[in-house]
Amino acid sequence: MQQRLPVVVVGAGVAGLAAARQLVDAGHEVVVLEAASQPGGKLRREPVAGVPVDVGAEAMLNRRPEGVALAEAVGLPVEHPTVASSRIWTRGGLRPLPRSLMGVPLDLDALAASGVLSEAGLARVRTEPSLPPTPVQGDISVGDLVAARFGDEVVDRLVEPLLGGVYAGHARRLSARASVPQLVALAERGSLLEQAAAIPTTYDLPVFAGIPGGMGRLPEALAAGLDLRTDATVRELVRTPDGFALTIGPTIAPERVQASAVLLATPAAPTARLLGEVAPVAAAELAGIEYASMAVVTFAFRAEDAAGLEASGSSGFLVPPVDGRRIKASTFSFAKWGWVRAAGAEQGVVHLRTSLGRHGEETALQATDDELVAWSLSDLEEATGFRAAPVDVHVQRWGGGLPQYAVGHLDRVARVRAALPAGVAVAGAAYDGVGIPAVIASARLAVQRLLADR
Ligand SMILES: Cc1cc2nc3c(=O)[nH]c(=O)nc-3n(C[C@H](O)[C@H](O)[C@H](O)COP(=O)(O)OP(=O)(O)OC[C@H]3O[C@@H](n4cnc5c(N)ncnc54)[C@H](O)[C@@H]3O)c2cc1C
Repeated sequence: MQQRLPVVVVGAGVAGLAAARQLVDAGHEVVVLEAASQPGGKLRREPVAGVPVDVGAEAMLNRRPEGVALAEAVGLPVEHPTVASSRIWTRGGLRPLPRSLMGVPLDLDALAASGVLSEAGLARVRTEPSLPPTPVQGDISVGDLVAARFGDEVVDRLVEPLLGGVYAGHARRLSARASVPQLVALAERGSLLEQAAAIPTTYDLPVFAGIPGGMGRLPEALAAGLDLRTDATVRELVRTPDGFALTIGPTIAPERVQASAVLLATPAAPTARLLGEVAPVAAAELAGIEYASMAVVTFAFRAEDAAGLEASGSSGFLVPPVDGRRIKASTFSFAKWGWVRAAGAEQGVVHLRTSLGRHGEETALQATDDELVAWSLSDLEEATGFRAAPVDVHVQRWGGGLPQYAVGHLDRVARVRAALPAGVAVAGAAYDGVGIPAVIASARLAVQRLLADR
C-alpha cells in the first residue's frame, strides 16, 4: 500500500467498521464510505413506544470471542439473555425446543416428550445410531445430510425453523460445510446421537450475548472517531497509477476518492458490481450469491395486557415452514433481555418482535406494513392465545438481508479471494458466516490481507 493515500473501506456495517478500526489502530489513514445516512447496516435501533430497540440483529454468539471482545474494546458492556427457553410452534401447539445442534436432536427422551415429531418421525430418529457413518464428498445441503441420518421430519420441523432464524434460508439448499461444519465432521465419524454427550449445544449457557441498550450501539461506538462519510454510495472502483479511485456522488456531479488500498465490506451484489473492472472473476463469483429478504415487526404492548405472555416463561418461538404460518419466529424481547424489560417498564410497556420472510418468499416484502402487522398479531394470538392492541409498532424491511450459502459456498469464497488483486480485500456476511462474530473475523482476515499486500 502507498503511504500517502488513505485506505478506503466501503460499507459501514459491522464488518467495515471493525476493519476500519483495526486499520486505524495499525497506524493507517482510513476513510469509510457508507451509502446509508447512518452506519451499522443490519445493526440498527429504532424507537418503539419511546424505547430505542434493535430492529435488526439483536444478539451475538458468546461462544465465539470476536463480538464480545469488540464490544468490550469500545467500552460497551454485554448482557446475556435472562430466559433461553425458546419453543417451536408446530403440529398445532407450542412445544419445547428439545436439546439440539442447529435442530439436530441430541436427546431422544426430550425429543419424544416435546411432541414436535409424529410417532413415525420419532421411530425414524431411533434408527440413527444403527446407521453407518455418512461420508460427505465435496459438499451437501444441510437438509440432505440431516435427512440421511434422521429422516425428513427432523429437517422439516426442527432444522428448518432454526436455519430460518439464522439464515432465513432453506435446509435443502444451504451448504452443510459452510453452515454446520461440526455436523459434517460428526456425521462422517458415525452416529450423532451416540456422540451427543460430547456436543456443546444451545443449552450450554450463556450461548448468546447482547448489549444493554441494543446491538445497534456497537456500530455507533465503533464509528466514533473514524473518518466516516455517510450518504456516500460508491458506484465505481477503478485502478489508477497510485492505487485505486472510487466514484461517489450523483452521476451529474461525481466525486472521486483516491485510495492506496480498498476494503469492500458491502453485500455480495454491490461488491460484485464494484469489482467488475479490477477483479472480474471475483465479481462473477460474487454475483452468484443469492440473498433472502425479510421483515422484522416490533411491537410494544401495555404491560398489564401482556401478563399472560410473561407467565409463559419463554423467550419466544420458532415456526417451521411446513406448518404454513405467516411468521417464522417471535422473540419476546421483554422476557429475553433484562435491559428491554427495564426500559419498557419505565414506559409501562413490554416489547416483542416477529419476523417474516425466507429465501425465495418475497411476500413478506410485497405486503403492506398493515398486513405484516395483522399477520403477526393473528399468528401470535393463534400460537399463544395472546390478544391485545399494540401501543406502538415498527416495521423494518430488510431487502437482501441475509446471504444464502449454497452448496459449494466455501469453494466459491476461496475462488473469490484468490481472484482479488493486491490492494483489494473483501469482508462481511457473504463469506465466512453471517453471525456478528464471524463477520468481524472476516474483517480481520481482510485487514491481514491488505497489510500483507504492502
Ligand atoms: C433481520 C436480521 C436479524 C439478524 N439477527 C442477527 C443476530 O441476532 N445475531 C447475529 O449474529 N447476526 C444477526 N444477523 C446477521 C448480521 O446482522 C449480519 O450478517 C451482519 O450485521 C452483516 O454485517 P456486514 O457488515 O457484513 O454487512 P451489512 O450490515 O449489510 O453492512 C453493509 C453496509 O454496506 C453499505 N453499502 C452497500 N452498498 C454500498 C455502496 N455501494 N457504497 C457504500 N456503502 C454501501 C450498506 O448500506 C451497509 O451499511 C441478522 C441479520 C438480519 C437481516
